[in-house]
Amino acid sequence: TRFLGIESSCDETAAAIVAMDGDGRGEIIADLVLSQLEEHAAFGGVVPEIAARAHVEAMDGLIAGALQEAEIGFGDLDGIAATIGPGLIGGLITGAMSGKAIAYAADKPFYGINHLEGHALTARLTDGVAFPFLMLLVSGGHTQIVLVKGVGEYERWGSTIDDALGEAFDKTAKLLGLGYPGGPAVERAAAEGDPKRIRLPRPMKGEDRLDFSFSGLKTAVRQSAQALAPVSEQDIADICAAFQLAVTDTLEDRIARALQRFRAEGLAGDNQPALVAAGGVAANGAIRAMLTGLCAKEGFAFVAPPLRLCTDNAVMIAWAGLERRRAGFDPDGMEISVRSRFPLDGNAAALIGSGR
Ligand code: ATP
Ligand code: MG
Ligand code: FE
Repeated sequence: TRFLGIESSCDETAAAIVAMDGDGRGEIIADLVLSQLEEHAAFGGVVPEIAARAHVEAMDGLIAGALQEAEIGFGDLDGIAATIGPGLIGGLITGAMSGKAIAYAADKPFYGINHLEGHALTARLTDGVAFPFLMLLVSGGHTQIVLVKGVGEYERWGSTIDDALGEAFDKTAKLLGLGYPGGPAVERAAAEGDPKRIRLPRPMKGEDRLDFSFSGLKTAVRQSAQALAPVSEQDIADICAAFQLAVTDTLEDRIARALQRFRAEGLAGDNQPALVAAGGVAANGAIRAMLTGLCAKEGFAFVAPPLRLCTDNAVMIAWAGLERRRAGFDPDGMEISVRSRFPLDGNAAALIGSGR
């Protein structure tokens, strides 16, 4: 079974062909991603109008490229899956309309996919992780701890009440003049810094809940920078190191709680429980090292898909479509619409299935 996947919810235009065999194992046939990083870098963040235009310009070529790489035509596909939310509306429309047009013209089933479901199911493609598992999603737009019970069955255990973690990295970098995207720049600077010199807060640490808050941390970074102004290169490195440590500490506190809850609820049965990391921030070495150690201590398998599949891509969208089909979900109708907000938990399946 072969699906074309289309992703265009933020600043990456992507098209991919993924196959699934009879046992539910996947194979990536083609995987194309065009990042708009350079278009947005000068503005220090993603500009929606620029993103929308870039998706329109890139989409057809990427889809054609993916088919060419797979050496197949539209007629050889078993279905088309496109992200319908959450994200920036302009890009979502481009991707969803392209997917529907192909599905209509080639008479193939169309699946509208929740972008977060794509992130959530990727570890099943790369590592065959069995349900249920725990997922930490840390990206530019999301920070969530999600119990993944099955295809279309998600329980959100915690999320950020303000900034996403990637956003906190990006804002910290901007504040310190390190450029965009901020995550890699902050990590690089932090490697040269002393994490103990400046003390930053650990928002909500010790509280008996699984939510996050990062906007106070960002304010503390600003105040530290102002107190030291004019900042030297060493000051910047020290602030970055302190920021990264505060973030890692906070995540560790929250994830430890989530792992304990997963165990206490006996969710894994006889299987080894697993924590899956997804999203661009999962590229961070300090965070990865912390999660590796914490999972080893708590008896969890730690699964982090390769970086290319952690950040936005179309492989995960094609895969989510294949998983939905295998799980027995009906395809969506042509009338299914895009949405900027699209929570994964609760009635995600009902929302997605509105074309039935
Ligand atoms: P979403 O998936 O929520 O729609 P997005 O597409 O912006 O958002 P990703 O592409 O998954 O998210 O990740 C981008 C984010 O990851 C940026 O905020 C970036 O700063 C951050 N990031 C990338 N590399 C690192 C790193 N090494 N350390 C910390 N953060 C990083
Ligand atoms: Mg991105
Ligand atoms: Fe994403």
